[in-house]
Amino acid sequence: MEQAVPSSPLDNVRTRIAKAARIAGRKAEDVTLIAISKTKPVEAILSLIAEGQRVFGENRVQEAQAKWPDIRAAHPDVTLHLVGQLQSNKAEDAVALFDCIHSLDRASLVTALGKAQDRLGRKVPCFIQVNIGAEEQKGGCSVADLSVLLDQARGAGIEVIGLMCVPPADIESAPFFALLDKLADDHCLPCLSMGMSEDLEVAVQLGATHVRVGSALFGSR
Ligand SMILES: *Cc1c(COP(=O)(O)O)cnc(C)c1O
Repeated sequence: MEQAVPSSPLDNVRTRIAKAARIAGRKAEDVTLIAISKTKPVEAILSLIAEGQRVFGENRVQEAQAKWPDIRAAHPDVTLHLVGQLQSNKAEDAVALFDCIHSLDRASLVTALGKAQDRLGRKVPCFIQVNIGAEEQKGGCSVADLSVLLDQARGAGIEVIGLMCVPPADIESAPFFALLDKLADDHCLPCLSMGMSEDLEVAVQLGATHVRVGSALFGSR
């Protein structure tokens, strides 16, 4: 008897995105899958590249500097996103290494990124991260500060393409995603970075253009 070839984690995630997009009347191609490879070894990244994945994300500058220069040299069509908190003193390293930054969240970082872009002569599109659940410990600007931060970023020459959030754990994500979508709409921002392994379907249904998926692709950390 012939065995069916078991589908890979990447196939599964792509299927989940496609189903959610179909239900929402959206195109799966309008959702970018970012494979979050934090804590995972280079070999795991290379096997996903071999399967056809081209967009990756890391949450720490130093870890990315250790893992990515060789991969990028060998695979120039792969793009790398920063999804974790960024210290201002790492802004120049981040601008040098990443193609997109999802964690712009405060005025001091706007200043540092603007300077880094000018010094390196390289522009990196950014998402403003919003602390959508108003959580004490979490990164992201408050909803109230968003308009001012957006103006500051534009004034510093930063291209803001959208909003990003990590909603509170252990509670339904949908209302937070819906709020982020409304905020992006209010500010005429086209992109929404939201949805992870557990909740990517609801994020896609509520308008995510970028989903950030780690454990569903690479296994638990
Ligand atoms: C780790 C991480 C993810 C991926 O989380 P999973 O639950 O493993 O899919 C997404 N976004 C950010 C900001 C992360 O740090």
